[in-house]
Amino acid sequence: MESCQKTVPEAITAFMEGNDFEDVIRTAVSLGGDCDTLTCIAGSIAEAFYGVPEEMKYECEDRLPEDMLDVLERFECALVRCPHCGSKNTARIIYGLPAFTPKMQKMLDEKRWTLGGCLIGPDMPSRKCNECGKEF
Ligand SMILES: [Zn+2]
Repeated sequence: MESCQKTVPEAITAFMEGNDFEDVIRTAVSLGGDCDTLTCIAGSIAEAFYGVPEEMKYECEDRLPEDMLDVLERFECALVRCPHCGSKNTARIIYGLPAFTPKMQKMLDEKRWTLGGCLIGPDMPSRKCNECGKEF
């Protein structure tokens, strides 16, 4: 049985040895042991430091059951306000060439997601205000 005295230092080691978000996750998984807890801790540290690549976010969200995705989207919307008009009615911008699943179409129809185009670059806006139309 693993304890936090062992798992937390291993998670910090995985973060310190990784070169980006995905590398930290792969390093944490490769360490074995209490791998799910260890990777959860290392991933949380890596997210705060590197952020999560948009394509990984979308891929994970696409695998969530609809009810869990709904909770996640409502949580994000509750935290985010448009810096231009103050509205909480914002949509996540999806980049790349996502597969148009029924789940994705529902999110687009409800204006909870919007398409941002094929190219993904640094410092791209992550949300679009449904009230004023500005991206941020
Ligand atoms: Zn706005």
